[in-house]
Amino acid sequence: MRFPAIVLWCAALSGSFACGSASTLDRVDDARLTAADADSANWLTYGRTYSEQRFSPLKQINDSTVTRLGLVWSHELPTTRGVEATPIVVDGVIYTTSTWSVAYAYDAATGRELWSYDPHVDRSRARTICCDAVNRGLALYRGKLYLATLDGRLIAIDAHSGRAVWDVKTVDQSQPYAITGAPRIARGRVIIGNAGAEFGVRGYVSAFDAESGKLAWRVFSVPGNPSKGFETPALEAAAKTWHGEFWKAGGGGTAWDPIVYDPDLDLVYFGTGNGTAWYRDLRSPGGGDNLYLASILAVRASDGQYAWHYQVTPGDNWDFDATQPLLLADLSLGGQPRKVIMQASKNGFFYVLDRTTGKLLSATPFVDGVTWATRIDTVTGRPVESPSAYAGMNAVLVSPDVEGAHNWQPMAFDAKKGVVYLNARNNSLAVHAPNAEWVNDITNRNMGVDQRYEGELRTRAAAAGGPRGELVAWNVNDRKAVWRVPLPVAQSGGVLATAGNLVFQGRSDGTFAAYRSGDGAPIWSFDAGTGVMAAPVTYLVNGAQYVTVMAGWGGTQGLANPRNHGPMKPGFGRILTFAIGGKATLVPAPYGHPAPPVPAILLDTTPAALHEGQLLYRTYCRFCHGLDAIAGPVPDLRYATADVHRQFDSIVRGGARKALGMPAFNDVLSSSQVRAIQAYVLSRAAAAADIR
Ligand code: CA
Repeated sequence: MRFPAIVLWCAALSGSFACGSASTLDRVDDARLTAADADSANWLTYGRTYSEQRFSPLKQINDSTVTRLGLVWSHELPTTRGVEATPIVVDGVIYTTSTWSVAYAYDAATGRELWSYDPHVDRSRARTICCDAVNRGLALYRGKLYLATLDGRLIAIDAHSGRAVWDVKTVDQSQPYAITGAPRIARGRVIIGNAGAEFGVRGYVSAFDAESGKLAWRVFSVPGNPSKGFETPALEAAAKTWHGEFWKAGGGGTAWDPIVYDPDLDLVYFGTGNGTAWYRDLRSPGGGDNLYLASILAVRASDGQYAWHYQVTPGDNWDFDATQPLLLADLSLGGQPRKVIMQASKNGFFYVLDRTTGKLLSATPFVDGVTWATRIDTVTGRPVESPSAYAGMNAVLVSPDVEGAHNWQPMAFDAKKGVVYLNARNNSLAVHAPNAEWVNDITNRNMGVDQRYEGELRTRAAAAGGPRGELVAWNVNDRKAVWRVPLPVAQSGGVLATAGNLVFQGRSDGTFAAYRSGDGAPIWSFDAGTGVMAAPVTYLVNGAQYVTVMAGWGGTQGLANPRNHGPMKPGFGRILTFAIGGKATLVPAPYGHPAPPVPAILLDTTPAALHEGQLLYRTYCRFCHGLDAIAGPVPDLRYATADVHRQFDSIVRGGARKALGMPAFNDVLSSSQVRAIQAYVLSRAAAAADIR
């Protein structure tokens, strides 16, 4: 074992808080978390402070010294999937997570791994995760770390030893729930939501006692079956905005990312996702706003009781989850002091709400090309929808797309400048083709999308070209960009801002860069060897400032079609740490293929079977193996060997590679259908090899 002596000593006292100089961990309590902003040496919570502003007062690394910033160490992770975690850093120890909800502790100065904790998530869950086996990080409270797992557990880990203290289920594991988000702490409780609205679940947020793991309260985001009665008056009111047997598919509205605690008002805020199905005519025939889908909700931290809601996208028809980061600030707006909550929403508008009441203060497009609504009416608080955004069961072409103008990637806020820094996608386009024949089926993607749609909107969307990626500095008071840095890729990562006049951000092509916060001038960059989605953090070790970022390309972004989205660099995940004068060299483990694919076998097929294989691939395979069979973080099937092709049926139907994250599909695919998919995959290899 490679534990440092002090950690061994604490581990030996397991459960005791008498761990001498190492016990700062144990003193991370409510008072310490409330004062996290002044604690510039550490990064104590997911968003650094309760307000989740991700702005560090540190400035040793600044717009002049950053040119000498270099790699101090890196550590390879045993994954090629997406890495989205924000590390927590206390007293020179980094606590972070990677794919399949595995947690790690590293010595920040040397990169030495102190411990790892694997919750052994069942890899067959891969069938019911929307967007890769990602995890966004941990929470820390009184010496324990809290980890939420892909299979719906919440686990308390002794931060000293890396051993589990308690392990509770926070979902019904027979349902297609998953958890990718980081837990948050509120008054001695651990708050966690869940995901699964693409498959059909009822969203909720739970609060567990941090010490015992006992459930304190649970608040649902959408109503359940009315015949069983409503849990709260708020849900009874919400049910009036739904029609039909909406509860059968669960409703959706999952709180899969932001949860923010506000100690001033003692409120917990969270964002909710799309409905099941995506299209209102399918999930709620007869219309309605479908509360509280695609909303920002505030509940009392003490008991989870409803305080207020703001529905960002009423009656959502476009997969416009309102689950982008929520950022709290106290601002002077138009001469008025305001406690606000902000979101750069997936739907393309930047929302500023009064967080005491939920009243909309402003909503302004922060990207080009938004078509679903012309504006948000600040009197009614509602969008003015464009007629082109809805055509019943007919397909429509809408911007932003389902990746959104902005997604889960954390943004940062410089309170002195009044500027939010964030990644943005302009002119993204989605074809929304509802499937009028949709029937609820929680064993598969259940969005009500006609995956077989091949109409002219598909051609129009392809001809329009891909979205444009930008790093944006957004002035909240002026409601406009101070600057925009056009990026050579559409997909980029989370953001860190510092008092050193710097903004740090990574992107899909593996570039990790620093920009001058005043004007967006790029002044430093590093090739991380693989795409970066996660947000960096900064902290002190022995008085010296460090920057750490988790690299690893995946999520839904890793599956973007590179032809439309610019270069992306899949590869092995890694953690990278930088300091002034760092001289380490990164030698990334090789990944990918040096030459175009060649079909490994010949398979007799017909044009009709090939076409059927393409449609089946689109329905069942592309969410992991990539659009048009061009894969990023999981095996690129065009390179499948003759050996793999011989086992194709036993892998796809028989689950021969279940342990590696490839679930069985024998319940939905026949052998002849699998053979059609195989033929399609081989045809894609032939196309890449230019064999006709
Ligand atoms: Ca969604």
